[in-house]
Amino acid sequence: MGIKVAKFGGSSLCDAEHFRRVKAIIESDPDYRYVVPSAPGKRFDADEKITDMLYQCHRMVERNRSHEEIFAKIAERYRQIARELELDFDVEELLLETSDAIRQYKNPDFAASRGEYLNGILLSKYLGWDFIDAQDVVKFDRQGSFASEWTNEIMRDALQKHERAVIPGFYGSYPNGDVHTFSRGGSDISGAIVARAAGADVYVNWTDVSGFLMADPRIVKNPRCIRELSYRELRELSYMGATVLHEDAIFPVHKAGIPTNIRNTNDPDDPGTMIVMQPSEHRDDGQVITGIAGHKNFSLLSIEKAMMNAEYGFGRRVLQALEDFGVSFEHLPTGIDTMSVVVADRELVTRKDQIIQRIQQTCQPDSIEISTGIALIATVGHGMTSAPGTAAKLFNALYEAGVNIRMIDQGSSEMNIIVGINIEDFETAMNAIYRAFVKD
Ligand code: ASP
Repeated sequence: MGIKVAKFGGSSLCDAEHFRRVKAIIESDPDYRYVVPSAPGKRFDADEKITDMLYQCHRMVERNRSHEEIFAKIAERYRQIARELELDFDVEELLLETSDAIRQYKNPDFAASRGEYLNGILLSKYLGWDFIDAQDVVKFDRQGSFASEWTNEIMRDALQKHERAVIPGFYGSYPNGDVHTFSRGGSDISGAIVARAAGADVYVNWTDVSGFLMADPRIVKNPRCIRELSYRELRELSYMGATVLHEDAIFPVHKAGIPTNIRNTNDPDDPGTMIVMQPSEHRDDGQVITGIAGHKNFSLLSIEKAMMNAEYGFGRRVLQALEDFGVSFEHLPTGIDTMSVVVADRELVTRKDQIIQRIQQTCQPDSIEISTGIALIATVGHGMTSAPGTAAKLFNALYEAGVNIRMIDQGSSEMNIIVGINIEDFETAMNAIYRAFVKD
């Protein structure tokens, strides 16, 4: 028998009907030993997430105003779940205590964490499993950085004492015991932490989509689902904007060599996406690329100087100028007498002129120019390393679609080709690349 850890997102636990689906999933496989829930999410488009309402409660308390009206809406959501599931415990007392504590502690993290806390208690009652409070087993240091090794020890010891348990996501505590949360969407991280400490065979992340798609469905119509993805490919794709999983949820499981399976609570028979350490040999019938992702709003800083290549330290001085103004760069394609630096627009807003001035002083270039309105598209896949002609196919697709390429960068891993194009061409380029590599 193996061990599985399941995390259910907010939309998977938004009402009693979804709790029933979750229970059916958990009970269908005895390997599920630990479950990490989010707070109830939206039931319909115009609905509110419990976490958002809890932050609102805190804002009222902070202004010395009553949070009761908002809390009443929160309480009603939990009350309704408990009633419809016929849970046999005093939910009213728990809600009252929670409301009082939010008022007393006046702490935004504490308030926000109660969404997962209450949901965790309800789910543990419904499954008949033990409840482990994340406050006791997930630790942050005094500066608020996640204390991974300390947590791993405490969590491992705690899990060993419980055959099956529910551990709420999203929060933990400082060394002094005060509640602290991860950033929004952080229950994904909690799930990965539990999976690592449990020595799980797989971390199953249940959400409301059937895994990762090969491209953003708002841009490419009906993109295929990615069945298998390596952690490295995932990192490259999420860095470029593909989102399903919280970025920091990768590290604990990757480190422990545990695969992550993204599944859809509303379509539990779909195998979803498996995120693995190494790509399997026969993945996706020889599909060369795994996914495409992109981001808009970059600037290209182009620097020219004759005989730049003969000058020691030129590149360092350019990068030093960025570092001095706290700007990080994305790519650094260089030519013989040219060097370009790709930087996100938001990094440059207030510091553009100062950086240019500094480069002029320290590098004395022949010219320096900034072009804005650049979009980056990453085409990612392990298959690309062994398939000759991949770059040709990609560039040809862009040429045929009439897209001008402003920059090219192939990572040294050879599993990612990034092109910089004009923002206006973003949608056309994404579709052209997708169609060139994916045959329906
Ligand atoms: N409930 C938290 C949020 O809305 C954490 C999570 O759902 O993962 O961000």
